[in-house]
Amino acid sequence: MNPFTYQRAKDSAAALHSITAHGAKFLGGGTNLVDLMKDNVEHPTSLIDINHAGLDQITVSADGGRIGASVKNSDLANHAGIVANYPLLSHALLAGASAQLRNMATTGGNLMQRTRCYYFMDTAFPACNKRTPGTGCAAIHGFNRIHAILGQTDDGATSPHTCIATNPSDMNVALSALNASIEIVSPHGKRTVAVRDFHRLPGDNPSLDTILKPDELIVAVTLPAAKFAQHSWYLKARDRQSYAFALVSVAAGLELDGNTIKSAALALGGVAHKPWHSPEAERALIGKPANADTFKLAATTILKGAKGYSDNAFKIELAQQCIVRALTQAVEGAKA
Ligand code: SF4
Repeated sequence: MNPFTYQRAKDSAAALHSITAHGAKFLGGGTNLVDLMKDNVEHPTSLIDINHAGLDQITVSADGGRIGASVKNSDLANHAGIVANYPLLSHALLAGASAQLRNMATTGGNLMQRTRCYYFMDTAFPACNKRTPGTGCAAIHGFNRIHAILGQTDDGATSPHTCIATNPSDMNVALSALNASIEIVSPHGKRTVAVRDFHRLPGDNPSLDTILKPDELIVAVTLPAAKFAQHSWYLKARDRQSYAFALVSVAAGLELDGNTIKSAALALGGVAHKPWHSPEAERALIGKPANADTFKLAATTILKGAKGYSDNAFKIELAQQCIVRALTQAVEGAKA
């Protein structure tokens, strides 16, 4: 681990003032960043602790919700307004990590969570375009069970652009399905970005996970008015029932008029460099009867173009099955 300084910011203005130092990073719960520092993957020169910057409020009304960036995952998952109005988000959070980690991990940190690609996290492997740009990708011909089947860059193992890593977060998948937005501040002002546009595909620069600039701070996540409280489900398929990352996860929400789908929310986790969302797949659900044939068509639509590798080709069929099952469970209701 490299030497670094530590500062505790009393508000977001103080945090932004401190982040101007080159190599500084904001510290939330530290459940990902500190691990990566110990493993010599991340090397911040300074940590700006934002846990005492007044970003820990949750508000929910008929118009929507607002979640401060330093709200703990456990507080968010168990907040009465979130449970009642956004059970999909609560369900996804409770499917993630362990109780101890959820007590530390924050909303902002969860958005910034980095991939669990084995080769990214272990510096004994020299080839990783995400950790060390231009070195190639060890996962393409390595063990790639947890890797992407959608949206990856695959120009071969030695290309500086190749990356088939996945975003490991459960929360991000629910936020994408719910069409949440992120409030961001910087020394230059404020901006709001849709969660669906916040995380990147690897494109020609796998080292970047998000569109956040080094001097920008996430201050809150906002949720639109709740539509899917009665009919939603988060399904997570993984190698172990607890404390494991998703092989495939599905965040599904339906707004029903009788058995007809009025509106739909659908996003996938564990399959791409970002939560995978397809407007086309949601449109394939709207106006249709809520039945297996409709759900299969939506699954086929969202998985269009999927490509597997030596150890993860099974994910394509697994995702198809999980989507149909999650949507079927959503009809039954969030509390089924
Ligand atoms: Fe690195 Fe991405 Fe390849 Fe993993 S998949 S080794 S993170 S470049």
